[in-house]
Amino acid sequence: MDFELSESQKEIRAAVTALCARFGNEYWHRCDSQNAYPEEFVKTLSEAGWLAALIPQEYGGAGLGMIEASLILEEINRSGGNAVACHAQMYTMASILKHGSAEQKRKYLPRIASGELRLQSFGITEPDAGSETPRIKTFARREGDHYVVNGQKIFTSRFQNSDMLLLLTRTTPFEDVRKKTDGMSLFLVDLKAAGSAIKAVPIATMVNHTTNQLFIDDLVLPREALVGEEGKGFSYLLSSLNAERILVGSQSVGDGRWFVEYATKYSKERRVFDRPIGMNQGVQFPIAKAHVAVEAASLMRFKAAALFDAGKPCGAEANMTKYLASEAAWEAGEAAMNALGGYGFAKEYHVERKWREARLYRTAPIANNLILSFVGEHLLGMPRSY
Ligand SMILES: Cc1cc2nc3c(=O)[nH]c(=O)nc-3n(C[C@H](O)[C@H](O)[C@H](O)COP(=O)(O)OP(=O)(O)OC[C@H]3O[C@@H](n4cnc5c(N)ncnc54)[C@H](O)[C@@H]3O)c2cc1C
Repeated sequence: MDFELSESQKEIRAAVTALCARFGNEYWHRCDSQNAYPEEFVKTLSEAGWLAALIPQEYGGAGLGMIEASLILEEINRSGGNAVACHAQMYTMASILKHGSAEQKRKYLPRIASGELRLQSFGITEPDAGSETPRIKTFARREGDHYVVNGQKIFTSRFQNSDMLLLLTRTTPFEDVRKKTDGMSLFLVDLKAAGSAIKAVPIATMVNHTTNQLFIDDLVLPREALVGEEGKGFSYLLSSLNAERILVGSQSVGDGRWFVEYATKYSKERRVFDRPIGMNQGVQFPIAKAHVAVEAASLMRFKAAALFDAGKPCGAEANMTKYLASEAAWEAGEAAMNALGGYGFAKEYHVERKWREARLYRTAPIANNLILSFVGEHLLGMPRSY
């Protein structure tokens, strides 16, 4: 077992740290207060090639692995930024790389790698299905050489900032399948060609994040938009979902580190009762405890990413990474809010923004309760709880 990063991994991390240093807390504060997409940051990151980390070199990408991708996203959040604006490109990629056709890869990957096309949008969640994905109702009906899609999605993020959407639909109704995860299909949708067949209605949220309700009305998709085989979409999705959980967990590790570093510095400098507040165990211990939790989450992340890169099953570790990291980041955020007292609420100190942003990952992309029920049922063999 070797817990050291390789020299090239350290170089990647240092290069991303240097890039992020050009977009400090003030930049992210400005985007947040104007509810603006961090266009300049995403452009710079794309031009430097970091968003193409997982795309093989033959398609113009960096051909890196999940460990490197996780370091990139961690570093963005550790620097005070928010990788949510562009992280989907990394994890949606896993389904395309593993299950996309040669034609899809040839047509899209080089353009995604160069930054010309953005694959930032992922449409799974529906209003009536919620966490029970097999209950989705959006339906793709086959008609000759094309499909016609109708339905609704909710919380589809970055729709306005993306050229492509990875869309999950049913191609066989829930009632007609033997296993409830059968009969779903995955499509790579060109949003320009989709035109007015997809209507997006933005949902205002507590974070700077474009997310939408989608109304899909007679969207015509060519057969070539189908990823892999019809009806097997859910199994393909698992590659992306594991990647998503590892990468989102890495962002939470980054958030956790940002909170711990910020709160530590502040508590050493802020003097009340004639001594630094960090001398008080009531301030010091929650920060130290959060640091321990963030370190543990980071280790689980490396295990999950290493398994992913080795092509081995990593569902359990990916889920546990997302759980541990999102809870650790939240614990660190709470420690930081407490350490700052009233100043934690002042926007110019940045902690309240990061605290709002970090909270998302206890709920999305999968609610932590659902991870615990996965662990109870699949890892511990306890009765299914729902
Ligand atoms: C800002 C934001 C961005 C998002 N972006 C995307 C996106 O780009 N694409 C996309 O597809 N989705 C996206 N989502 C959706 C997100 O993945 C879902 O919100 C999440 O999976 C939970 O689903 P739900 O909101 O329907 O909650 P529900 O399924 O309604 O659950 C509500 C609560 O009940 C609990 N619960 C439900 N069933 C059980 C059970 N059996 N046992 C214990 N507890 C249970 C859950 O843990 C949760 O706390 C986004 C959400 C947000 C808020």
